[in-house]
Amino acid sequence: MKKIAIIGAGISGLYIANLFKDNKEYQVTIYEKKSSIEVDEGYGIQLSVNSVELLNKIGFSSFTEEEKFNPKKIDFYEIKNLKKICDLDISKFNSKKSKYTTLKRSKLLQFLKKQLDNDMIKYNCSIDQIDYDKDSIRLIFNNNKITCDYLIISDGVFSKGKSLISKNKSKPIYNDTIAIRGSISKENLKNINEENISLFLGSDFHYAVYPLDKDKKFNFIGILKHKLNSNEQKNHNLYSESFFIESIKVKLSQKVSQTVFESLQNIKLFPVFVSKNLYNPPKNIFLIGDAFFAFSPSFAQGASQSIEGANELYEIIINNYNFYNFRLKRVKMVNNRSNFNQFAFHLSNPIMIFFRNVILRILTKNSKFLDNYLGKVYKN
Ligand SMILES: Cc1cc2nc3c(=O)[nH]c(=O)nc-3n(C[C@H](O)[C@H](O)[C@H](O)COP(=O)(O)OP(=O)(O)OC[C@H]3O[C@@H](n4cnc5c(N)ncnc54)[C@H](O)[C@@H]3O)c2cc1C
Repeated sequence: MKKIAIIGAGISGLYIANLFKDNKEYQVTIYEKKSSIEVDEGYGIQLSVNSVELLNKIGFSSFTEEEKFNPKKIDFYEIKNLKKICDLDISKFNSKKSKYTTLKRSKLLQFLKKQLDNDMIKYNCSIDQIDYDKDSIRLIFNNNKITCDYLIISDGVFSKGKSLISKNKSKPIYNDTIAIRGSISKENLKNINEENISLFLGSDFHYAVYPLDKDKKFNFIGILKHKLNSNEQKNHNLYSESFFIESIKVKLSQKVSQTVFESLQNIKLFPVFVSKNLYNPPKNIFLIGDAFFAFSPSFAQGASQSIEGANELYEIIINNYNFYNFRLKRVKMVNNRSNFNQFAFHLSNPIMIFFRNVILRILTKNSKFLDNYLGKVYKN
């Protein structure tokens, strides 16, 4: 039996553990830094059909209608005048069993965790050291030594596992944007179609609101351009410091309507760090999820790509293919689209905005374009 160690019990680590759990040839253990998996936070996540199809392999279709939502379209609006620009039918990529889905991130994590034996996840284990040669991989967590045949590093965008094996060569960079998460009740969202994702485009800022379940509790996610100096970028406590939160709230109040601003609850800030380059680890050590490559959130593909990458790695380990080259092509495609979306969503110049809206109206109705721009990503 081959021993697999997974560092990080996030979406990608938990998903790949689910794929391996019934395979008698492998014994999987996840090492997680935190003392538990957060299952009570209320923020949302969008999952496109490519990842829903893979989640269905492990029973995601058993989620009840009360726990998730299937939006039909993305409605584009201008923040300035709240006028609708156009809409994009995302349900056209759905199949009977796999539909574009929005839900609470905590519900997804709870589902991924629930299927694993309790002793498969070791908590309070932050990776300290990784040593390897051609025969074995040795890990040290809090002075405990572990050996394994395969190491899967899935400890997120600030991956310590990746820093250790790359000798700090592959660090993420600040994307000059802050993600603002919050919740908002439907009474405070006027003139939107509650069946859809509403995407509001403004100068150096865009936000999306979407339902999380049948009760139509709405998730708010805004992406705000904001420079940070190098000290601020290193300070991971900055985003919970009240003076910083207040300064971002002031900026936010100038970007959204008073009603939206005043009804936002549970605001939480996240600096957006993205990958600058790719790193190909040594034999039998693999990176997945944000540790492999972290995208700008403007295409809402981070979690979906994490699940896709985990599925590819599972197939590759059991069939002995080359994982890195396989993932590379897909990551480049999604990254180009994420960066382009952010550029187009944040335009400030009125002439550029005029042309963007004209082009958006045409392209969102052009099947050939949609099949190429979205279909290639949404279909595995
Ligand atoms: C504001 C925001 C909104 C987003 N919205 C969406 C969306 O709508 N749709 C979408 O597809 N994606 C979205 N994403 C991206 C998505 O959340 C990530 O791409 C996804 O969570 C990555 O999964 P992961 O498993 O790689 O890492 P994570 O989910 O970050 O999990 C990493 C795990 O590793 C653990 N860990 C960290 N360090 C160590 C260590 N040293 N030792 C052991 N364990 C460690 C952590 O505690 C954590 O449990 C969003 C991201 C942000 C910031």
